[in-house]
Amino acid sequence: MVQKTLVAWDFDLSMIDVNSDEYVFQMMAKHLNPVPFQRANPHMTWPQNTLMAKMYEEKPYTREELVEAFRHTPFESIDLLKWLNQQGCDLIIISNANVYFIQIILEVYGILDLFPEEKIISHPASLIEGKGLKIDDYHNLENLHNCVVQCPQYMCKGLVLKRYLGQYQTIIYVGDSIPGDWCPCTVLSESDYVLARKEHSLHKKLDKMNGTFKCSVLTWESYQELSSNIRNVIQKTLHAAQ
Ligand SMILES: [Mg+2]
Ligand SMILES: [Zn+2]
Repeated sequence: MVQKTLVAWDFDLSMIDVNSDEYVFQMMAKHLNPVPFQRANPHMTWPQNTLMAKMYEEKPYTREELVEAFRHTPFESIDLLKWLNQQGCDLIIISNANVYFIQIILEVYGILDLFPEEKIISHPASLIEGKGLKIDDYHNLENLHNCVVQCPQYMCKGLVLKRYLGQYQTIIYVGDSIPGDWCPCTVLSESDYVLARKEHSLHKKLDKMNGTFKCSVLTWESYQELSSNIRNVIQKTLHAAQ
């Protein structure tokens, strides 16, 4: 096995400090607040398609306007990402946002080159003239995941992460919420870590399920704490490999 580390990131409220699906409406059309929708339908497709279409109907937006909306997205993990890249770690994003938003945010912060297309595993999306942003599900009817860990129908992050197992000495998974981020924790092994955001739903679930999964759990509240936790793990694994 290669002595390498993979750092797999959830995107919303993990890599960035907001939910990109909500943030875009906050910036462009506050009255279309998507929050109640999402909470009412945790296992259904996001309502973003409907809302993005509605926003387009009211005022057709361009890619440039979306770029402007995301220009000041709270994003405090950038230095950590650059450092991980310098250390030779592989980085991937496994996210229930969408590829279009993620690429825009990485681009406005000048770090899109850290994440070539195959490293962003999320819902494909494109801006269609006359209609607005159209988001497709990562897992759809032709591509069902059959996961038994109660993943949402549109994405099983555990199944995605399984593709990388056996290729790394250590895998670090950064996440904040259930149901999506719980499944990857169940596929990780003793040499792996999950970095769970303190007091968010994933942290609470991990506390409750203690003993049913193999990886180590570290928690973080601030991005400073996240960074020092991950740096410690990387230094420990580099040391162990020598
Ligand atoms: Mg998240
Ligand atoms: Zn799953």
